[in-house]
Amino acid sequence: MSTDLPPPAARTAVVIVAAGSGTRLGRNMPKAAVPVAGVAMLERAIGSVADALPGARIVAVVPAGHPGLWQLCRTAAAGTRHDDCVTAGLDLVAVAGGATRNDSVRAGLDAVGDAEHVLVHDAARCLTPPAVFAAVVDALAAGARAVVPALPVVDTIKTVRAAPDPAIAAEAVDSTPARSGLRAVQTPQGFRRAVLVAAQRQVAAWPAERAEAVTDDALLMEMLGEDVYLVPGDERALKITTELDLMLAEALIAAGEEHS
Ligand code: C5P
Repeated sequence: MSTDLPPPAARTAVVIVAAGSGTRLGRNMPKAAVPVAGVAMLERAIGSVADALPGARIVAVVPAGHPGLWQLCRTAAAGTRHDDCVTAGLDLVAVAGGATRNDSVRAGLDAVGDAEHVLVHDAARCLTPPAVFAAVVDALAAGARAVVPALPVVDTIKTVRAAPDPAIAAEAVDSTPARSGLRAVQTPQGFRRAVLVAAQRQVAAWPAERAEAVTDDALLMEMLGEDVYLVPGDERALKITTELDLMLAEALIAAGEEHS
C-alpha cells in the first residue's frame, strides 16, 4: 500500500471572501470589483491564489447582486483562449455572500468539499505574495490546526474607555499593552477544515451582535481553546480598505513588487 500523500495544495481549498460593500473606498461598486491598476481586486486575488497553490479548489464568495463579479468567476473557471494559447480553467466555484464577513465565510465553507485544510483569504488582500500562502500551508502540513500570518506592530496600541469628562473628548486611554507582545494578523488564515466547520456551527447559533464581533477566523479557534500558530506575514498583504491603501497597492504594482 502506498503511503504517499497528495501535495499540500491538492489537499487544500481556499475560500476568498469578496462579498463586502467596501463603503470606505467610496466607489459605487463592491470593493472586490474595484480595479487595482486596471484589474478587479477579486481577479487579482484569484490569480495570486492560483499562482501560489496550483490545484487547490477556490471558492469565491461574491455579492449576490453583482453580475460582473459572477462573470469574472465563470471566466476564471472556464479558462481563456488567445489565438494559439489556451489557459486551463481553475477549480473555482462562486457562491453568494452574507450580511457579515462571518456569514460569507460560512457560505464559502459549504462549498469547499472534503478538503483536509481550508484557507480563508480576504479578496481585499489581493497582493499577498506566494511565500505567505506557502508558510500557512507548510504549517498545516506540519500538524497545526490553525495558522495565521502576522507582522509586528509598529504603532503603540492603546485600549480605551469612555472619557471621564465627555465634554472634553469621548474616549480616554484605559491601558497600553506592551508592543513587543502584539501582532497584526493578515490572511490567508489556515485551518483543518473539520475544526473550522465545527467552530462555525457554534457561531451560527449566536445572537447577531456577538457573531458580528467575529472579525477574523482565528478568533473562533481561540474561543475553542485551539493553539493558533503564527507564521510571517508580509507588508504587501495589506488589506485595501481606504483610498490611501489603493494608492499604495498601485504603487507596488507599478514597482513590480506585487508577486515577488
Ligand atoms: O469589511 P472588511 O474589510 O473587514 O472585509 C474583509 C473581507 O471580507 C473583504 O474581502 C470583504 O469583501 C469580505 N466580506 C465579505 N462579506 C461581508 C463583509 C466582508 O465577504 N459581508
